[in-house]
Amino acid sequence: MTSTLPSRPAFLDLPTFLPRVTQHDGRAIEQALAGPTLFDRGVKLDGAIVEATFASESPPLLRRLASENVPQLIDPQTIRFCGGRFLQVEKLRQLPYAPSAPITADGAAAKVADELVRGALEFQSRAGAACYIAPAMPYFDRDPGFWLRLNDRMLAIASALNGTGEIPWRPLIAQVVPGPRALAEPELIINRLLDHPIDAVYVQAQRLNPVRDGLEKLAQYARCLMRLKAEGLPPIAGRVGSFGLVLQALGIPSFDSGLNQAEAFDLSSLNRPLTEFEQERRKRARGGDRRVYFEPLKTTLKGRHAIAIVENRTLRGRFTCGLGCCQHRGFEDLADRRREHYLWVRAHEVEALRDTPTGALRIDLVHEQLRDAREHGAAVRRALARGTADVPDFDHIDRWIGVLSHEGGLAAAA
Ligand SMILES: [Zn+2]
Repeated sequence: MTSTLPSRPAFLDLPTFLPRVTQHDGRAIEQALAGPTLFDRGVKLDGAIVEATFASESPPLLRRLASENVPQLIDPQTIRFCGGRFLQVEKLRQLPYAPSAPITADGAAAKVADELVRGALEFQSRAGAACYIAPAMPYFDRDPGFWLRLNDRMLAIASALNGTGEIPWRPLIAQVVPGPRALAEPELIINRLLDHPIDAVYVQAQRLNPVRDGLEKLAQYARCLMRLKAEGLPPIAGRVGSFGLVLQALGIPSFDSGLNQAEAFDLSSLNRPLTEFEQERRKRARGGDRRVYFEPLKTTLKGRHAIAIVENRTLRGRFTCGLGCCQHRGFEDLADRRREHYLWVRAHEVEALRDTPTGALRIDLVHEQLRDAREHGAAVRRALARGTADVPDFDHIDRWIGVLSHEGGLAAAA
């Protein structure tokens, strides 16, 4: 490698949080980067994943990230093209590489895919991506051979195009979007990936809800990522929220999450076309829920639960935040700065893991945080059960402890 080639970004190897940047997050990220006062430093970001639909608007935030030397990845969002919904979403439909019809398991897909790969890489290059995320399709359980071959072909094309024409060479990150079957038996996919010159793998399970899913599913997902890592392919875990800290304790370097999003993803419901009634209802429901992340609970709570906590005198002392987002400020407007708060807290949590020198100590650190979260959660439930608010549950913390204890033993032995 010569010195003119871009260097390998730290997020491929060290614990890193990558915020997923959409049109809602621009201001919060600008503010967090700037810091609370002229004299205090802001959040230090080691990478960000920008959705192509947002990047296509060339927002000033992208220049700001570039001037701060924050490596940017562009999510090409090609998995949104395998259902009818993208035709109803103008920004997706207008991406320069968007197909004219949903991609299905038939012969036409292969032809469309070739152009799609080139278009998506050129787009990422123009947007200033530090690494390319290879455009991919989900590994659907139905017609598995078709999707395996299609993804193999798309990745081969992306590898061949990297460093040619309008696409200057950058590290290439494969994208894997497994369904239940592929998660249960990841070997087939991993073996194919090993044939390509890739530097990392972005993994987005088709359906994952770390707060609701059972222990076995979460453990299976963690094992899939650990297998990739063991094969020398560092994984980036897609949209996992606080569960990302459990994964990092298990040796997975990076994860992403939208700021304050519920920690969940469901591709089939994202890609299903909306009925006219549903479209109308969405327009009326603009604004949504004002979720707030509480670090001691390791959980993002619904707006009404967050308000009940900060209004409760006996509880709120547990949840004081001393970071740049909240310093010298009361709890009253926490919901207004919730995205900025999320970014500060998450960056701080991951920095603590990065500063912890060994895998065994990282497991201990997160284990202890989760045991504390269980205790804080019990206190929240006791206090709120006396009032009128309904009570959030924190059962997922026990499941996360289960994943960490079980898979952590394996990680330590590896
Ligand atoms: Zn804060």
